[in-house]
Amino acid sequence: ATPTALMVGTGRGAQLGILIKGPEVLESTHRVDTVVLDKTGTITTGRMSLTDVTVAAGQDRTELLQLAGALEHASEHPIARAIAAAALAETGTLPEVYDFANVEGVGVRGVVDLGGKRTVLVGRRRMLEDTGQTLPDRLDAAITEAERLGRTAVVVAWEGQARGVLVVSDTVKPTSREAVSQLRRLGLRPVLLTGDNRAVALAIAAEVGIDAADVIADVLPADKVAEITRLQQSGAVVAMVGDGINDAPALAQADLGLAMGTGTDVAIEASDLTLVRGDLRVAADGIRLSRRTLRTIQ
Ligand code: ADP
Ligand code: MG
Repeated sequence: ATPTALMVGTGRGAQLGILIKGPEVLESTHRVDTVVLDKTGTITTGRMSLTDVTVAAGQDRTELLQLAGALEHASEHPIARAIAAAALAETGTLPEVYDFANVEGVGVRGVVDLGGKRTVLVGRRRMLEDTGQTLPDRLDAAITEAERLGRTAVVVAWEGQARGVLVVSDTVKPTSREAVSQLRRLGLRPVLLTGDNRAVALAIAAEVGIDAADVIADVLPADKVAEITRLQQSGAVVAMVGDGINDAPALAQADLGLAMGTGTDVAIEASDLTLVRGDLRVAADGIRLSRRTLRTIQ
């Protein structure tokens, strides 16, 4: 490969909205056959909103929103931002939080003072079930229905009891479906990798045209790297597109890491290309560009 030809490719990449870290990156894209896509913020906009509140029998909606909203106010997660903003808008004020803890890929926990201190959890149903509790039927039904629609449901609990379910929804970017079909036309296999649960992941996959067999869900942030390694061990040459802080190690493990432009600095540092447009179609553009560039120089 001549450095001149690769520089041309890099310059053209910049025009498309792709920043390529080094010429050697163009060569690794040539062998890629599998593209792993993160869900939140990559396929979807990552801007969530609270769409549904279900309270358990005898619980008060305002109290539920204040306790959950206060706790989520301390978290940066897109789910947390949606819940905190809606709770503040509806109730006017959020109480104080002490001893806040974030359980990555699972939820948040802390002590909230609302006429007395209570230990509150907001997160995946597993967070509650891990403490040996079961969900009341009404809450169980709310979660099932939300997930069928491709929405994310989280449980709110305090004093060891589930009190309600909050449903947040994210929207698929208008360009994601087209991007997935462009990747297929390039002969690449699109795979969805997410920490969200399987029902939500399947609904989003169907919406953008990813096969159910290529959905990897319920993956904790720390285990995303292992999933990339597993694909590589089965013979795949893997590109990964992600944006979250959580995705940085997986981006680094992939044969080619592509960070969406809306991503964090950590993820950008770990990846080879930065897709500055925040539009998944740029991933296909980047791979197409590198193939064309290599053809001209070989
Ligand atoms: P993704 O892979 O889609 O980016 P994450 O790994 O960030 O998802 O989170 C996985 C799941 O953990 C979420 O779908 C949610 O159920 C739960 N979760 C994570 N953070 C929070 C939070 N701050 N509040 C409530 N639930 C959370
Ligand atoms: Mg994420």
